[in-house]
Amino acid sequence: MEIVRQKIADPADFRARGIRARDALRGDLEGADLDKYVEERVLTTTLDKALNWARGNALFPATFGLACCAIEMMSVVGARVDIARFGAEAFRASPRQADLLILSGRISIKMAPIVRRIYDQMLEPKWAIAMGACSSSMGVFNNYAIVPADKFMPVDVHVPGCPPRPEALMHGILKLRQMIQDDPAMGWRDRYEARGTEEIVGDLQDPGADAAVNVLKRPPGSAGA
Ligand code: SF4
Repeated sequence: MEIVRQKIADPADFRARGIRARDALRGDLEGADLDKYVEERVLTTTLDKALNWARGNALFPATFGLACCAIEMMSVVGARVDIARFGAEAFRASPRQADLLILSGRISIKMAPIVRRIYDQMLEPKWAIAMGACSSSMGVFNNYAIVPADKFMPVDVHVPGCPPRPEALMHGILKLRQMIQDDPAMGWRDRYEARGTEEIVGDLQDPGADAAVNVLKRPPGSAGA
């Protein structure tokens, strides 16, 4: 659903609409007037769609910064980008209250388990954005200490740049919002054949079997989440 703001062409029309709303509330509208009023204002949908619409417009990012990209991430709540317009400004101080992890910077191999633990502590449904070249692809660094986020946790959206501008992060958040509203199953669960909060990883020794590596066993006959 897209909400479009328009200038009121005629203030008198605005007043007429106010009077119609008052009449409707009082039960004074009848017949064709009532039909037209209801047609213009009532929206039908499914509970799932309404839930996803609300989720997509009320993301709670975790208060967690990794490196230089974090400075750009912080600025999205400022007046210039004002991510509050899209309901994603309430950065939570605990992963238990957050549903979005923004990986804003480079991740060393030593830091990766901590990042993964923060992600695991977040409640479902949850999402992750890899912000910047470092967390997406090790960025400008050519050494053994940095690891891309995809190697140890699921990532829903990658935002390129070094650092990406706050506008780019906003674009990434809007892409994620679209993903949540349009097709939530497009998330990491299907891609990684996972359910719950853990991933199901194949056994390297026995490619035909599921292995319990940090994971729940896949139930027999299930295709994933
Ligand atoms: S992508 Fe660039 S700005 Fe972001 S953490 Fe890496 S080096 Fe820093």
